[in-house]
Amino acid sequence: MFEDLAPEEVLAAVASTDYSVIEPIDLTGVKRIDAIRALERLVRAAQAQLAEQTAALLADRRRDTPFGLGDPFLSVAAEVAMARGMSPSSGVALLNVATGLRPMVNVRTALTNGVISEATMRAIVRESDTLDPAAAADLDAAIADHLPGLTPRKAAELTRSLVVTIDMEAAAEREKTERQNQYVTYFGEAHGMGTLIARGPAEQLLLIRDSLQKHADTLRTKGDPRDRGQIMLNSLYERATGQVVLDGPDVHLDILLPIEALNGQAVAAELGGHGPITPHLAAQLVDHAGQTWYRRLFTDPTGTLVGLDTRKRCFTGLLAKWIHTRDHQRCSQPGCECRSREIDHITPHRHGGPTTQTNGQGVCRLSNLVKELPGWQVEPGDGGEVTWTTPTGHTYTSPPPRAHRSSARHSGP
Ligand SMILES: [Zn+2]
Repeated sequence: MFEDLAPEEVLAAVASTDYSVIEPIDLTGVKRIDAIRALERLVRAAQAQLAEQTAALLADRRRDTPFGLGDPFLSVAAEVAMARGMSPSSGVALLNVATGLRPMVNVRTALTNGVISEATMRAIVRESDTLDPAAAADLDAAIADHLPGLTPRKAAELTRSLVVTIDMEAAAEREKTERQNQYVTYFGEAHGMGTLIARGPAEQLLLIRDSLQKHADTLRTKGDPRDRGQIMLNSLYERATGQVVLDGPDVHLDILLPIEALNGQAVAAELGGHGPITPHLAAQLVDHAGQTWYRRLFTDPTGTLVGLDTRKRCFTGLLAKWIHTRDHQRCSQPGCECRSREIDHITPHRHGGPTTQTNGQGVCRLSNLVKELPGWQVEPGDGGEVTWTTPTGHTYTSPPPRAHRSSARHSGP
């Protein structure tokens, strides 16, 4: 019922429709499904516009940046990221997709008209990012007839095979660079659990998994009561650390305990590098630890750690650890969720900014780089909040560290 509306009319029509009219049982929800389809079409058109505006901003900025002042790519990526409440690394990814989409007229039109989803568009652009603009236009022409109903996975596979026929060298180059992009990373979850992700050459990872599975199956046939997943993880832990699981972890733990916990009050503790855990688990980690060096950092109700040497120029030792733990090991730039790698003086040391917990904030490497770019400014407020100003004069304020970071405020220039 919303099919004939222009995108700008959809939202108002969907909001003002009366869905309460009794429908025959077998047709219940027809209007709502119509509304959902219309909204999805609207979202896709908006996503195409977002990509277009993003790519055009970079083109404008490149045109207007005086020769010799460097490529404004990183600044534009970070500005777009802040405008959309994301991390600068997400901004880089968005800008790469937006510029990759530009030469693909058919793909762009399909997204604008709601024929493909944004995920399908991203898959096509991502899998063809080694092509030059002319070759990308060839790919766009070759894929045009396949677009209706194309899912992201099928789009990725189809694009990959088309890229091989269009530019075999580019395909081989992509495979070579991708196989270098290896990492092991950690995501903290609820209940004192986490997920370890390893990315690497497929044949190596398959061997690791098969070896762990085989070991688990052997132990289980001998009567080991643990389930397969537990044995696999225990075995991975033992092989990677050289320690036996039952001995407890031989590592350094920072456990931040609010002082209220001493009075038996129910408050969350904080495990360095992970996030909030229950005081129960904190006590258990300390009690059952083997060769564990742990440090309990007590904070008062305002979240302040007492009695530190504040005369150092660099954030080191206990102060650095405490700021990282206070900031949940996350970057302080509004919208950024990357792991903090460095501690930054909010008021720069060269402007008399002290090396204290209130003047220190954890930032990721990219955010630390972005704030030094031309036209960027970061300033502390009276209440502990920090305001980031971008080259266009837009400002983004992060709340004081102990408050929830998700509520960054924004105002225009
Ligand atoms: Zn960051």
